[in-house]
Amino acid sequence: QEDSFKNVISHAKEYGYIFASSEIYDGLSAVYDYGQNGAELKKNIKEYWWKSMVQLHQNIVGIDAAILMHPTTWKASGHVDAFNDPLIDNKDSKKRYRADVLVEDYAEKINQKAQKEIEKAKKRFGDAFDEEQFVATNPRVQRYKAEEKEILERLAKSLTEENLADVKALIEELGIACPESGSKNWTDVKQFNLMFGTKLGASADSATDLYLRPETAQGIFVNFANVQKTGRMKIPFGIAQIGKAFRNEIVARQFIFRQREFEQMEMQFFVRPGEELSWFEKWKETRQKWHASLGLGDEKYRFHDHEKLAHYANAATDIEFDFPFGFKELEGIHSRTDFDLKAHEEHSGKKLRFYDPEMGENYVPYVIETSIGLDRMFLAVFSASLQEEDLGDGKSRTVLKLPAVLAPTKAAILPLLKKDGLPELAQEIVEELKWDFRVQYDEKDAVGRRYRRQDAAGTPLCITVDHDSLEDKTVTVRYRDTMEQKRVPISELASIIDQEVNF
Ligand code: ATP
Repeated sequence: QEDSFKNVISHAKEYGYIFASSEIYDGLSAVYDYGQNGAELKKNIKEYWWKSMVQLHQNIVGIDAAILMHPTTWKASGHVDAFNDPLIDNKDSKKRYRADVLVEDYAEKINQKAQKEIEKAKKRFGDAFDEEQFVATNPRVQRYKAEEKEILERLAKSLTEENLADVKALIEELGIACPESGSKNWTDVKQFNLMFGTKLGASADSATDLYLRPETAQGIFVNFANVQKTGRMKIPFGIAQIGKAFRNEIVARQFIFRQREFEQMEMQFFVRPGEELSWFEKWKETRQKWHASLGLGDEKYRFHDHEKLAHYANAATDIEFDFPFGFKELEGIHSRTDFDLKAHEEHSGKKLRFYDPEMGENYVPYVIETSIGLDRMFLAVFSASLQEEDLGDGKSRTVLKLPAVLAPTKAAILPLLKKDGLPELAQEIVEELKWDFRVQYDEKDAVGRRYRRQDAAGTPLCITVDHDSLEDKTVTVRYRDTMEQKRVPISELASIIDQEVNF
């Protein structure tokens, strides 16, 4: 597992997807830069999300709010008082950890024991294996699952300001050791606020203390009335946004999974009070379909319903993804009630209501939120796509099987040789295709090596120009995933690529 994760990180760097930020100065912890291919993949994920959430929904519109917001926003939202992580120090190593993450990792190890039992049984029983039945009846799996559940429930109960001592007690009872030094000598658990502070202008006045937004959602709530009125939106309707968010994460690790600067793709859906739970179910289903449509494999996803709800929610679930380090949260779907709009009403003195003509009533709408980390989605897509394929005869290839719709480069145009007019014809093809697709010309090295390079970079199609092409205006198209090749007329290239890569 660890090796495959290292592989993901080094491949992302080698092929221009992700670099450590300011790397020439040895990087900045938990901050990353997206390279020439990473920027394209990221842009394509955003477009895929925006198209399905905004363009395909008549009742959802998108905005782009500022990162800096009036400081009262964060009082109203609860972030000033409640946006805290429980931290614990190890007295011997002097290292600081998130107490909840230590316990979650411990629980995950127990879960992995259960998974191992399931895998073993799968091998033993072959086709006849009924996983559901096995999980329900095998005593060892049952024991592991119960143990994991109990630990997570106790953790959830103890994560409030008053009960933090219980988290420490749980860590000690489970005998969790410092991952670095193995020491079990822990301090008390303390809360730490995650918001990055900054100042407006040169004034020393505390009224000019600002925060970099820790979530994009509040930019939507404060614009609720603007959008509803100017867009003449009727409930139910949604407002979507993609943008940067900042959190001063203490335990920054797992590559782009947990960063201090990251991007969120969020949608807040405003509904009638009382109808929120059926919309919550509906959005769970819609978001699940969105993920499935990318074809990364349904077994890579699972829902995790929250036992403990945030102060603003009356239902919440995570869509978890099987990252190289195990199942972790990729997206959150929350029923946020009328908490945010009500709080902004109180703090601003402005009405944030909707007059429902059918009901003949004015009310503060309830909200269902879908919130996905763009960088986490990037890591999900990238890590699930990176494969080492056995080609038989002791040969193998590294291939990045990105969904074609997301691939940075859609097709590479390759002249078989660097002479006889082949480069010129290949360039002509590039000139024609570049208006509709991101294509790349490549003439260096033998064609087999160029295929391998494009496989590893994630390019779904290679188009090879040879001597016959000069005569009959046909070229060879090679498919990344199957390595199948076929001869096609140059005039049909655009429609062939389109079929492969379109939404
Ligand atoms: P976690 O429990 O992993 O810290 P969270 O529950 O605090 O996440 P939310 O506040 O629900 O996360 O944010 C919504 C989404 O934003 C998450 O599902 C995740 O994809 C993304 N996200 C949150 N924090 C980070 C981060 N530090 N780096 C990258 N993405 C993040």
